[in-house]
Amino acid sequence: MFACTGYAAQTAQTPLAPFSFERRDPGPNDIRIDILYCGVCHSDIHTARGEWGNKDFPVVPGHEIVGRVVEVGSGVSRFKAGDLAGVGCMVDSCQHCPSCKEGLEQYCEDGGFTGTYASPDKKTPGLFTYGGYSKSIVVDQNFVLRVPENLELAAVAPLLCAGITTYSPLRHWKVGPGQKVGIVGLGGLGHMGLKIAHAMGAEVTLFTTSPNKAEDAKRLGAHHVVISKDADQMASQARQFDFILDCVSANHDINAYLALLKRDGTLVQVGAPSDPLAVNAFSIIFPRRNFAGSLIGGIPETQEMLDFCAEHNIVSDIEVINIDQINEAYERVISSDVKYRFVIDMASLAA
Ligand code: NAP
Ligand code: ZN
Repeated sequence: MFACTGYAAQTAQTPLAPFSFERRDPGPNDIRIDILYCGVCHSDIHTARGEWGNKDFPVVPGHEIVGRVVEVGSGVSRFKAGDLAGVGCMVDSCQHCPSCKEGLEQYCEDGGFTGTYASPDKKTPGLFTYGGYSKSIVVDQNFVLRVPENLELAAVAPLLCAGITTYSPLRHWKVGPGQKVGIVGLGGLGHMGLKIAHAMGAEVTLFTTSPNKAEDAKRLGAHHVVISKDADQMASQARQFDFILDCVSANHDINAYLALLKRDGTLVQVGAPSDPLAVNAFSIIFPRRNFAGSLIGGIPETQEMLDFCAEHNIVSDIEVINIDQINEAYERVISSDVKYRFVIDMASLAA
């Protein structure tokens, strides 16, 4: 074991504060990465505040990690010291169930995947994983991504969660030219959804509760912007959409968006409010609509997404912060005042 420093929530009610803990030494298949930047996902806030029912604290959040490899185990050939590397929401899974074999580790059928933080750690039984708001991390090589050299590193970090969480459903439901696609909510996920859906060739509409984000939305890839609080604007969009990606973190009326789908259209929920969403049966019965969900993305698809972003010159629009600004950043994310992802410069964390 070796000593590491980070920022943790000690309980669901306490703000994040400096925290010292231990990590395992790298085993034969492990890679140790010095963390340079870590994105701030709304899931970090849900977990640090126990909003999803998690009870094990302290929580060191952070699953949008980029950094430099400093040490590799004897069985590691894909990475060497000095390489750039990325880590997303998962650090382990069974590797032998049907989903893992298909490269869909996020749907691991044998005990589930090990989350980058707040997950029981199969490799150090009795301990929970600690995430990327920290100096360094040790990760099984199968869960380490290759980071493109041609993109701004801090702005790549959010691709590891916000990027893949939007890329995966857009790819799975085969979004492309000739389709009308809606993205709901212009936050971290939503702004990546706009960029990626645009790059895939779809006609993209942003639905936002924040009229002041309309100009940014067009710059980020939206062809049209609809203010979702305006009933007339919403009514004018009824039955128009092939596909809608809902990236909203808080409770909202899902039926208002289902009504915008064409016959056989699909609404995919990636935003994860803590309370149930009330779906009116008639919202999906009448024009045979689909309501689905999607969880991050598998490791091969995450690499595909990073390569797609490198090819299309896509990164996140970020505001870089020091780690001691994290609690203030959380408040701004909650009030929908993030443009459009906070990324922590880990050099600001004392060793
Ligand atoms: P975020 O940056 O806070 O963005 C959420 C956006 O939702 C806000 O910017 C806002 O956009 C909109 N919004 C907020 N409150 C709203 C309300 N009361 N009514 C309507 N719209 C509202 O969050 P994020 O990091 O993108 O994450 C979004 C959600 O996805 C979170 O719940 C997160 O946990 C979840 N998530 C899921 C996965 C997955 O695998 N499925 C992965 C990562 C994150 P406007 O101002 O434009 O309205
Ligand atoms: Zn996330």
